[in-house]
Amino acid sequence: MHRTVSQLFLLSIICMGVCGAESLPSVTAPAAFDEEALPVSPARAISPVILDSELSSLHHPRTYPGCKVAPLSDIWDTEAAAFEKNADTAPVDVDDLMPDAAQALGNFQEMVTSLGGTFELKSAYRPLAYQAHLHEVWVKWVKELRNNRSSGCRALREEVGAEFSRHQLLVKQQPVQASDHTLGLAFDAAIAMPRGARLHGKRVTVDKLAALAGIKRPAIRRDPVHFKLLAARPADASYAHVSGL
Ligand SMILES: [Zn+2]
Repeated sequence: MHRTVSQLFLLSIICMGVCGAESLPSVTAPAAFDEEALPVSPARAISPVILDSELSSLHHPRTYPGCKVAPLSDIWDTEAAAFEKNADTAPVDVDDLMPDAAQALGNFQEMVTSLGGTFELKSAYRPLAYQAHLHEVWVKWVKELRNNRSSGCRALREEVGAEFSRHQLLVKQQPVQASDHTLGLAFDAAIAMPRGARLHGKRVTVDKLAALAGIKRPAIRRDPVHFKLLAARPADASYAHVSGL
C-alpha cells in the first residue's frame, strides 16, 4: 500500500505541466520575487490504464473518470493526519521543536515585542508526511490542475484548489518535501518592527534581532517568514544583556 502511494506521489512529481501566472484570489502574494519561469517538463506519457489500476488499490479510491490527473494521495501517517484535519484551527506545534529552537523562538519573540514589534507565529514543527502532503498539493495544483480546463477534471480541480487555498500555499513558493520544520529546527513567523526601532541606541532590524536570538532567515526574499536555528548559538549572556533593557 505504501509503495503504491509513494509511486503515485512520484507520478505526480514526474507529470509536471506548464502554467501561467495567476494565483488564487484568496492568496496574497509576498511583495517581491524573481521573475523566473517555471520549469518546463515533457508531456506525460503514462497510460491511463496503468494509472487506474494504481488508483483502485488505494485505501479510499476516489476516481475522477475522464480526468488524467491522479487524485491527492491519502495521508497514512496518523500524526500528519491530525495536522491535516486541524489545519485551519490547530495551534502551532511549538512543543515538538528541538529545545534549542524553542528557546531561540521564545527569546526572539520577546525581543521583538519588547521593542514594540508584532509577532505572529504561523507554523513550527510539521510532521514529514504532512510536509510531503503540502508539497503534493502544490505540485498538483500549480503544475497539473490550475490551468486544466478539461471538464472531466473539474471536480478534482475544485478539490485540490480548495486544499491549496486552505493551506494558504502560494503559487511562487513551492513547499520542499523535507524541511527544517520536519526536524523541529525552524518556524514561520510574520513580524513587523516599528520604524526606527533601536537597541542600545542603534537601529535594529528583524534580521539583527534574529541573529541575536541564534536564528536566521535563509531566504529572505523567497520565504520571508521562515526562520531556522543557526548551527552555533550565541552565548546566553548576549541575550541576557539584551533582555535586561
Ligand atoms: Zn518555513
